[in-house]
Amino acid sequence: MLRKLIACLSLILVMTNSLDAPDVEALAKLIVDEGVVQHVDLNRVRFIRSFNARFRSYARIFGLSRPIREALKTNVCYVVEVNAELFDGLPSAEKIRVVIHELTHIPNGCNGSLRSHRSRSFRTNTHRKARVLAVKLEGSKLDDLNPA
Ligand SMILES: [Zn+2]
Repeated sequence: MLRKLIACLSLILVMTNSLDAPDVEALAKLIVDEGVVQHVDLNRVRFIRSFNARFRSYARIFGLSRPIREALKTNVCYVVEVNAELFDGLPSAEKIRVVIHELTHIPNGCNGSLRSHRSRSFRTNTHRKARVLAVKLEGSKLDDLNPA
């Protein structure tokens, strides 16, 4: 209960200190369009960029359970937050790997729960998938995705 409350409060904090991240959303759309991640409904995922974030990873994902969605009157099930200071300087192939990783946390059905790193989905090689996709796109589409 306390853990859920803390998660909810940190999510609200995240949403107030962050900007939309259309470049990350576009990257996620490429990943889904190319079939690397197939089960995610991106209409229900929001992508945001945090500055001076206190977490030390490139990105993280939050799931919104049904009561929270109803309380906030939103259809959004997941929020992917990138850490601007760490994520923005990454090469495109690494950004792809990070976004694939976060999308892999979303289970079938997009119900607000999260797959753990121990789940079978994480045993497939996201590094290899990201490299294959980066080579396929050959930088052309990726150049347009860098934040202004
Ligand atoms: Zn993870």
